[in-house]
Amino acid sequence: MHHFVYKDGVLHGEEVNLEVLAAEVGTPFYCYSEATLRRHLRIFRKAFDDVDALIAYSIKANSNVAVIKILAEEGAGADVVSGGELKRARAAGIPAAKIVFSGVGKTHQELALALDEGIYQFNVESEPELDALNEIALSKAMRAPIAFRVNPDVKAGGHEKISTGKREDKFGIPWTRSRDLYSRASSMKGIDVKGVDIHIGSQISELAPFEAAFKKTAELVTTLRADGCVIERVDLGGGLGIPYGPNAIDPPHPDEYANMIKRIAAPLNVQLILEPGRMIVGNAGVLISRVIYMKDGDEKRFLIIDAGMNDLLRPALYDAYHDILPVSERTVGSACQDYDVVGPICETGDRFVRTHALPEMNNGDLVAIMSTGAYGAVQTSEYNSRPLIPEVLVSGALRAIIRVRPTIDDMLMRERMPSWLNDGRGVDPQPGRE
Ligand SMILES: *Cc1c(COP(=O)(O)O)cnc(C)c1O
Repeated sequence: MHHFVYKDGVLHGEEVNLEVLAAEVGTPFYCYSEATLRRHLRIFRKAFDDVDALIAYSIKANSNVAVIKILAEEGAGADVVSGGELKRARAAGIPAAKIVFSGVGKTHQELALALDEGIYQFNVESEPELDALNEIALSKAMRAPIAFRVNPDVKAGGHEKISTGKREDKFGIPWTRSRDLYSRASSMKGIDVKGVDIHIGSQISELAPFEAAFKKTAELVTTLRADGCVIERVDLGGGLGIPYGPNAIDPPHPDEYANMIKRIAAPLNVQLILEPGRMIVGNAGVLISRVIYMKDGDEKRFLIIDAGMNDLLRPALYDAYHDILPVSERTVGSACQDYDVVGPICETGDRFVRTHALPEMNNGDLVAIMSTGAYGAVQTSEYNSRPLIPEVLVSGALRAIIRVRPTIDDMLMRERMPSWLNDGRGVDPQPGRE
């Protein structure tokens, strides 16, 4: 459920008319609904209300500080995958004691930063990372609280590029090595073993793969305890999918997901950590774009809109489907046409949807690309020298720009002409010094 609905024939974000907003902000832009963000976090939190659980929102799904702040107000912690995300989470008011740090390639600087911040848990993904963390912690006379991310070898996820829990994926430590690594880690002076972590993939629309992975994890906890390890937390990652269109499979409700988890975890007596991302923010955002041209090809009609794959990468990267709606509502029964909705980028892959039925559209019409709150704005780039598009938050009748659109001049300001291409007299900034 979300708060993007037609009122008086125009799509609104909560009480805000998106046609009016588009005229104010300029297109394209992302629009998020605060009420939807709060609602989703509350539904998820409530599903785990009766157990000891940390809901660590996965920052990478949507890392705008205003979005994080709203979720922090609802009690969320954070799952971060870089030093930058850690700083964002802290800047938005998430206490370090509610932050877990995932990722296969944490740098030494990032490990040191996270230790200094005093985060809740490092989800360690390899033996060399364990060694590095141990050394850095010892040099600071600290102990790093860790879980190993173990790879349960379970297939899951809506697309090959978002499956993370198969043996051949780069994530986590091999299941077969886990007992050895836990016993090594337990003897390290700079390491404090706290738990077990998994994350099997994203946009998962059925319970079965979760259940298979969680059962394996529960067995591992029992085994590790028998080996003498203290396991007091289990981090089950994220991955719960959302419905992306009217014909999509409805993913399990958070209550069903939670009940299955509680059934498996109850005998273990552990604190649970959950890392939902998409489920919280996905349906809380839309991308508003304007039709530049309606173009008739030999075989197809193309709707060329002013958003491109640099503004929303998911269709090109994952073959993802997003519903596209006209912002100005068409009367029921108005004739539909099949369009390929494409962007202006010089790439054939710059296509949002193929052969999509839409009411007759004209140059200048606005469209809303739905369910783009997750993995949308965070994946934007400036390809084709297109400025990053703004993000706007609506809350009731209020609206605010929460990321501003840079100008082309702002973009050019970041680049430098080396002295030898200029007049030979300039001083080049030293690498690493600027
Ligand atoms: C991406 C990611 C998540 C969030 O996944 P969603 O599918 O958005 O819920 C959680 N944990 C880790 C480690 C991740 O990499």
